[in-house]
Amino acid sequence: MATRKARLLLRAGAGLTVVAPTITAELQALLAENTGVWQQREYREADLHGRTLVVAATPDKTVNEQVFRDAVRQSIQVNVVDAPELCTFIFPSIVDRDPLLIAITSSGRSPVLARIMRRKIEALVPAAYGKLAGFAGRFRDLVKGAIPQDTARRLFWEQALEGTIAEHVLVGRESAAEEQLRERLQDTGALYKGEVYLVGAGPGDPDLLTFKAARLLQSADVVLYDRLVAPAIVDMSRRDAQRIYVGKRRADHSVEQTTINQLLVDLALQGKRVVRLKGGDPFIFGRGGEEIELLAKHRIPFQVVPGITAANGAACYAGIPLTHRDYAQSVRFVAGYLKGNSVEHDWSSFQSPTETLVFYMGLVGLPDICAQLQAHGRSPDTPVALIERGTTLEQKVLLGTLATMVDVVARAQPSAPTLIIVGNVVRLHATLSWFGEVEV
Ligand code: SAH
Repeated sequence: MATRKARLLLRAGAGLTVVAPTITAELQALLAENTGVWQQREYREADLHGRTLVVAATPDKTVNEQVFRDAVRQSIQVNVVDAPELCTFIFPSIVDRDPLLIAITSSGRSPVLARIMRRKIEALVPAAYGKLAGFAGRFRDLVKGAIPQDTARRLFWEQALEGTIAEHVLVGRESAAEEQLRERLQDTGALYKGEVYLVGAGPGDPDLLTFKAARLLQSADVVLYDRLVAPAIVDMSRRDAQRIYVGKRRADHSVEQTTINQLLVDLALQGKRVVRLKGGDPFIFGRGGEEIELLAKHRIPFQVVPGITAANGAACYAGIPLTHRDYAQSVRFVAGYLKGNSVEHDWSSFQSPTETLVFYMGLVGLPDICAQLQAHGRSPDTPVALIERGTTLEQKVLLGTLATMVDVVARAQPSAPTLIIVGNVVRLHATLSWFGEVEV
């Protein structure tokens, strides 16, 4: 154990003193090679005087505990091997791409998991990334001088480190990389333009985010998000990105839509890269269209990134196929909110028993929806599912029919967001359900 730790410490440039009656031959050799010192005797408190770090790696528990207490008293950082509670610092598992260094720890909970993570990251980060970090380090000051503005400079490096410049470095063509880098520094105008990304964050489960959404989140200066976006997704943005909550609740519009639209324009005009995160898909009941209209008017560049809409996410996680050869040949996404006291639709067009209906924002309007569908020819026995917080760990499914659903919901008191699925496909839930809790 001590030999392993000694090797790590010496590699990091430590001046090393080992106190022990006996040590391995390998450790002796290491010390000799690195002008380390071996005090061949038992430990005593005075050994700690003037030290920066102490590692206790003896097989004797009492000695280890003594070292810990002495070190803490002298305000010296101490690590007792295999005793997380006796450590003021740890040795994380590391992926070494010098000068790039990745540290992994499970905070003492599962060294095996930390090792598995390490193996994955080893595979993910090519060995040549060290060279890339070295290259970036050499040109850091030059680029800083050429591009004084932070956002623009970060953008420059992102493009350099993910584009052809990096490719050159990774295959060992550093002079070609340097040439290209100097060329790009001549023309940095494009870096100062703000841009807005309207990004669908999916229905809740962070794993349902697209790669593109994750990538843009990582690059944004500012992230605007609302109530439907899971905190874990907002946390995927850069640590120093500004996060602005613009949540909207039913009838309590924390930030007015026009204010959001204007905010996007203002931030972009300041040269910021702005991600506007929206629950589900930005273009499905998301008012995404309105938000980019104003951007287009100001000629601000924008992109729209689709997301998994609540109907897709919740239906899949609830085991309800929205279409099915035997039950439904079409599916319709419907706004279920009340205008005044009723949900306004041409209800006579909702008759087809082979069409699945998915109501968004339909919880309050549910009595009206069930009544209208029955009044316009849908059988009272038509199955209905209400999915609460679909795709999240709190997902619940309530089941009923057009005739019974109002009572089912009154009893269960589900909390938002909820989605209502009407149609014979709901029957399949009984056999296809695989996730979350079900109440009947
Ligand atoms: N753009 C979003 C929808 C916004 S409207 C999308 O594509 O999903 C808000 C409505 O979406 C909510 O009232 C609710 O009906 C539905 N919704 C969003 N997330 C949901 C979830 N995780 N579970 C159930 N319904 C959800």
